[in-house]
Amino acid sequence: MIRPALTLRRRRILIDVGTQRDLFTAEGKACIRNHRRILANIRRVMAWVRKEHIRVISTVRIFENDGIHHGPSYCLAGTEGARKIRYTHLARSLAYASDGYTDFPRDLFERYDQVIQEIRSDDPFEEPRADRILSEVKATDFLVIGAPIETAVKFLVLGLLLRRRNVIVLADAVGSFEKHAAEIALRQMQAKGARLIDSKSFVGNTHLKKVGICSCDRCQGRLVKVAADSEALD
Ligand SMILES: [Zn+2]
Repeated sequence: MIRPALTLRRRRILIDVGTQRDLFTAEGKACIRNHRRILANIRRVMAWVRKEHIRVISTVRIFENDGIHHGPSYCLAGTEGARKIRYTHLARSLAYASDGYTDFPRDLFERYDQVIQEIRSDDPFEEPRADRILSEVKATDFLVIGAPIETAVKFLVLGLLLRRRNVIVLADAVGSFEKHAAEIALRQMQAKGARLIDSKSFVGNTHLKKVGICSCDRCQGRLVKVAADSEALD
């Protein structure tokens, strides 16, 4: 029997983790290391996603903002810092609060390019709808961007691998707070079967310099050569 060519096509889905202002801008409450470089790569990936019509699953980390909460003080519910970075938000998107439900449209990715799910745990599989979407959506590969590598990215990737999914971490488009912990987390993901590939293998080389969202001197190109070099070393 001859299979139609269509079934041989790869279907890639991008998973975008925690691309929020508190984590990715210098004025954010918990900015990652090397944010300028990682943001620039994320912006390129998002431009490529739009061009190639790749569907996106986004998780947005939200911490309680009730005054008695003693956890991290970033990405608090209802604050500016919890908002998604502008260019990670596609026009045709469907957003869900962290509500414990599992419903989503059967034809989700025919009607929308992106689903955005708020999550209240580092492990997205603890949010019932995210668990269901990540477990049921058909894809040959999941590409992963975002932060933090040490927690949210790691739990996502390990959970996908446990569900026998192919996972590619775009290594230059994921961010961390602490270099050593991030290296350990990445090695753990690799050992379980994730592939680490630089985004330019997918996106190609571009000349995009500006990240367009953060107002710090680095991102605005005001501390050009020296800052870029020292940032690459830290
Ligand atoms: Zn910046």
